[in-house]
Amino acid sequence: MTILKYEKKVLSENDRLAAEVRREMTDRGILCLNLVSSPGSGKTSLLERTLGALGKELRMGLIAGDVQTENDADRLRAAGGTMVRPIVTGGACHLDARMIIEALKKLSLDGLDLLFIENVGNLVCPSSYDLGEEMKVVLISTTEGDDKPLKYPGMFRRSSLMVVNKIDLLGHSEFQLARVKENARAINGDLETIELSCRTGEGARRWYDWLRQRVSHKRA
Ligand code: MG
Ligand code: ZN
Repeated sequence: MTILKYEKKVLSENDRLAAEVRREMTDRGILCLNLVSSPGSGKTSLLERTLGALGKELRMGLIAGDVQTENDADRLRAAGGTMVRPIVTGGACHLDARMIIEALKKLSLDGLDLLFIENVGNLVCPSSYDLGEEMKVVLISTTEGDDKPLKYPGMFRRSSLMVVNKIDLLGHSEFQLARVKENARAINGDLETIELSCRTGEGARRWYDWLRQRVSHKRA
């Protein structure tokens, strides 16, 4: 089999498993979000803050993907997460739907409102692997280049929301908020944007409101 054919086969098998996950989430009325970004953009920090702010209001399950450690899962538990499953990929640079199905076997979905999947920090191949999520949320921080949407168009095209993190550091680099938005819009005209700082909490209310709205929409 050629590499291309093999890749196609892997992806179509992945799509079949992702559809299973999606059906289960729909049946249970759970909003499932796939968080993607480069390493260090703040996926775990965003989830820590979200647990702190909404932990009493929404029941959240969290799947934390990492290449080698369970550090992120430990951080989420320390932040109050009670339904946390780590996935250690052992070198693989993305999560796939089979890993999600395996993780879900060990996670009680009863009464969950939200399931967050923290993907491996990588803006390339996670864009090709449907995990059965309702939406991808892409994070970018102000310590990165504001041309990332242009460099990794696949990820920004397939995401529904872009969270710009570390706005407390704006002005300390060449990163410009207007420019990242413009670049993102050029790739995906429907992409929503929320800017915040996971460190200071500035702007986080819009993220919470966005989540509340999506969750209630899912329940209805
Ligand atoms: Mg992380
Ligand atoms: Zn990969």
